[in-house]
Amino acid sequence: MLPAIILNQGRDYSVSRRHPWIFSGAINRVEGTPEPGGTVAIRAADGTPLGLAAWSPESQIRARVWSLDPAETIDDAFFERRLAAAIAGRSVLLASDTTNAFRLVNAEADGLPGVTVDRYDSHLVCQFTTTGAERWKPAIVESLTRLWPCAGIYERSDADVRKHEGLEPVRGCLAGAEPPERIEIRENGCRFLVDIRGGHKTGFYLDQRDNRALVTPYTTSADVLDVFSYTGAFGIMARQAGAASVTHIDLSSDALALARENTRLNVCDGDADENFIAGNTFEVLRTFRDSRRSFDVIVLDPPKFGDARKHVMAACRGYKDINLLALKLLRPGGILATFSCSGLVTPDLFHKVVADAAVDARRDVQVIRRLQQASDHPEGLGFPEGLYLKGLLCRVS
Ligand code: SAH
Repeated sequence: MLPAIILNQGRDYSVSRRHPWIFSGAINRVEGTPEPGGTVAIRAADGTPLGLAAWSPESQIRARVWSLDPAETIDDAFFERRLAAAIAGRSVLLASDTTNAFRLVNAEADGLPGVTVDRYDSHLVCQFTTTGAERWKPAIVESLTRLWPCAGIYERSDADVRKHEGLEPVRGCLAGAEPPERIEIRENGCRFLVDIRGGHKTGFYLDQRDNRALVTPYTTSADVLDVFSYTGAFGIMARQAGAASVTHIDLSSDALALARENTRLNVCDGDADENFIAGNTFEVLRTFRDSRRSFDVIVLDPPKFGDARKHVMAACRGYKDINLLALKLLRPGGILATFSCSGLVTPDLFHKVVADAAVDARRDVQVIRRLQQASDHPEGLGFPEGLYLKGLLCRVS
């Protein structure tokens, strides 16, 4: 018999809405002694079986739903079925040939909480962020080698979230060959070098692919400012589309060094020193404002500003500050592509913050399009937390 968690009266509501997280406060009692990462049966207060979940004894999210079918068996074959379905869900992207780097498995949205798998050309990069995912890692890796024959599978389970689960950070080769120092990928007609061992996340911000394609048409003949540029993807696409100039700003000189290499790979004359500014955005934008620099297109793609509820107000102040500065640097008719990847900042809240910045900047702003993470990073309809990246593509008069 599987160990079981019995929910408090009324706390089966979110499970019945197909939400995959069960918080510690929802659990009335535990029957049996589940192992960390082991499977538990979920039961309502009256004993009705609701499904099966992975047990995370150290996390506030105490259990994550694997299946809402109480009769399902959680075994190697279950993971193979879920992985195959996730891969099948990317068939349109695979057929389109716009890229050879995309997310194959997006955790909760693909019915696999804690598991992400990204493809970079002939290598896969996995992240296992929960005890449940960790428990089934060998089975998942084994299935991936069958479902997606590749040169190697590398692990980048070094995200901070693992500590909430009592898991140590790990990275290293899980199967096949070690990845080369740089993997070259294609995206929307550009080439990018990716460092999957040492880069951010699994190496590249794959979640911005669709947005880069939407922003690029506005950059022809424009002076473009790519703020928080990382390895240069937005700016390089702009350069290739005929931007008059592109200026990258990032705190990380390593990221900018790769942005320079990537620039050389795509255009022959775009890597002059003045185009790559290693510095703190908040300071650099102020010096630009004071020296009256101006641009036609500005991309603002900051990192997460805090990840706990208590950080939301501070995050909003940060967003308002940089959006206000950017609005002041834009020429009339200019384009602002502004983003937030903080899961706790909702699309509505982000919209309000940018609107507040426009009020202070005394600029009229049209939203041309609301933006979100790329289609290979789907959001479960019953799991709004899955929509973490949101943005606004604006025209500023
Ligand atoms: N636009 C990028 C992804 C940006 S990720 C792309 O499309 O690939 C966020 C980036 O912000 C990281 O590269 C990080 O180094 C940088 N960063 C973080 N804090 C910063 C700060 N205060 N000033 C400048 N850059 C910063």
